[in-house]
Amino acid sequence: PDVEYEKLRRRVTTNIQEFWNYVHAEVQKVEKKLNVDSPELKKSLANLQSLANEHKQSLLSDIDQMKLTDGYEYWRHKEAKELSDLVQKRLHYLQNPDDCSTARKLVCRLNKGCGYGCQLHHLVYCFIMAYATERTMILKSKGWRYHKNGWEEVFQPISDTCTDSNGVTHASWPGQLNTQVITLPIIDSLNPRPPYLPLAIPADLAPRLMKLHGDPIVWWIGQFLKYLLRPTGDTRQMLENGIERLGFKRPIVGVHVRRTDKVGTEAAFHGIDEYMAAVDEYYAQIELTQSVDKKRVFLASDDPKVIDEARKRYPNYEIIGDPDVAKIAAVSTRYTDTSLYGIILDIHLLSLSDYLVCTFSSQVCRVAYEIMNTFYPDASGRFKSLDDIYYYGGQNAHNRQAVLPHKPKSHDEIQMNVGDLVGVAGNHWNGFSKGKNTRTSQTGLFPSFKVNDKVEIVDLPTYSNVK
Ligand code: GDP
Repeated sequence: PDVEYEKLRRRVTTNIQEFWNYVHAEVQKVEKKLNVDSPELKKSLANLQSLANEHKQSLLSDIDQMKLTDGYEYWRHKEAKELSDLVQKRLHYLQNPDDCSTARKLVCRLNKGCGYGCQLHHLVYCFIMAYATERTMILKSKGWRYHKNGWEEVFQPISDTCTDSNGVTHASWPGQLNTQVITLPIIDSLNPRPPYLPLAIPADLAPRLMKLHGDPIVWWIGQFLKYLLRPTGDTRQMLENGIERLGFKRPIVGVHVRRTDKVGTEAAFHGIDEYMAAVDEYYAQIELTQSVDKKRVFLASDDPKVIDEARKRYPNYEIIGDPDVAKIAAVSTRYTDTSLYGIILDIHLLSLSDYLVCTFSSQVCRVAYEIMNTFYPDASGRFKSLDDIYYYGGQNAHNRQAVLPHKPKSHDEIQMNVGDLVGVAGNHWNGFSKGKNTRTSQTGLFPSFKVNDKVEIVDLPTYSNVK
């Protein structure tokens, strides 16, 4: 297909949703202002909401069908596989140098003081740095807080030939080009910061990625996770046990509810009804073209009470999830590290779901979304975040580019000319996003549909001897 066709098709999909977000939020605003004694007006507004929502679902469903019937589906699958195979081969090549004693190395310590999702992102950052500097990544994981004996008992070693961090010369980042062993700090302390940190994608793959995928950086991050998270036999057994014991079957919507320490510090509280409203929407839409035997939800949370609450309040759903499932799933494996197995299994099942509902402020859900994108040519539309847009902790600037001009209608909106770059802070999911116009330095709201994402492209090694 033509790249412009693919971009437009995805833009229409996103903006049908944005259009609905706008209408829905505006009608709600009007409803709040309404007098108690205007029942007729209330009723018309309720009807408007309900039929406009049906309109939206029908449009989204139609454009989905259009994708399935435009003749390019075969190409999408083939292209996704070829691109993934190429990147996986490059990573394998990078990680298995002919002579480890002379290889240039980048040492990454798995000791970032944070949760499992955050630590995976730390590893991915190290791996991107390794890829960009053509250095074999050496992982130091003994004493890992999630598994004392280290990474290699849980996932396959990241190298078959080179795990030794010795070398002739050592330095901390950035070192010299010819320093044999360089040690990386965490991304937050990295100095200098190279341009190839997320959200940048490699120039040699960019044209293909931008045609294939609605959010190429998510695809790119996903490929590093795909390599890193190849399970050992025990871990694979545990995942299979978990799928069977839970009765995990598609269609299914993955819901992640992050509570406990996160709420009030790094994220706001969201009631289960907010998540389930998004689940309802998903099922209503797919039911336009397929019959759903049982509406299933896989529910993962750090707060086990959420699962009971959801089962009580939503009896028409089959809600799958069990805080103790890791114990059951670990049976017949050598490691019974249930806190680690619990989070690995939860992320795995979230990523295997057809659609994700969660808060992108949580790294657990962002990781699940990244992994999900390794299972589809393009899963960039298969989520609903109740708070943040997708981001990568420690990322470089995230810009969007105006494709339509905007004249502010109120003091909290910003003016935009076509071509302006806007540093985007977030989507308010009401038709508007917030950002800073880099031309005028004005910060405020703008209609989300008037911009496109500006993909950052950087020159990186092309691994030309890997075919
Ligand atoms: P964030 O704090 O949500 O951004 O993600 P992190 O991964 O950095 O830290 C959260 C930690 O809380 C995880 O690593 C888990 O240990 C735990 N946790 C959060 N959500 C879940 C969940 O759904 N299931 C399980 N098993 N653990 C969770």
